[in-house]
Amino acid sequence: MFSGLGVLSHFDSIFFLVALGGVLPILTLYMARIYETAKSTLALRHRKRWLLAQLKIRPDCLRASLVERFSQCGKANCQCHHGGEKHGPFYYLTQCLAVGKINKFLLKTPTQQQAARSAIEHYRQLQELLEELSQINAQLLRREEPLRND
Ligand SMILES: [Zn+2]
Repeated sequence: MFSGLGVLSHFDSIFFLVALGGVLPILTLYMARIYETAKSTLALRHRKRWLLAQLKIRPDCLRASLVERFSQCGKANCQCHHGGEKHGPFYYLTQCLAVGKINKFLLKTPTQQQAARSAIEHYRQLQELLEELSQINAQLLRREEPLRND
């Protein structure tokens, strides 16, 4: 049931992909990575300044997954139906918009596939920086520190 399917990109470590048969429904679940915030307030402020300097929204940000698939064709006498190699790989971009609502389409050219890879990576980097900033801010708030004086 999972054969021929691989996730080529994932956000942090926790993205689950489930494929059933040929229809490719996908269940994605995102959970944040936990950053070290048990540091001195000064160290947190330094880290925060660094994060803010890194934060840059790239024009090709894309929240999605890239899925690799091999499939069988419609010809009954083709090798793919008789133990031979399946066709592919085909690359699909999938984007979970809501529960049960997935935007999915085939990336036909290597140019599209490479653009998708970079864009997904840029989104992931941005998301990581924002998440760490957010966790530091939560910690500063807990210590009754101001959040806006950096
Ligand atoms: Zn075939």
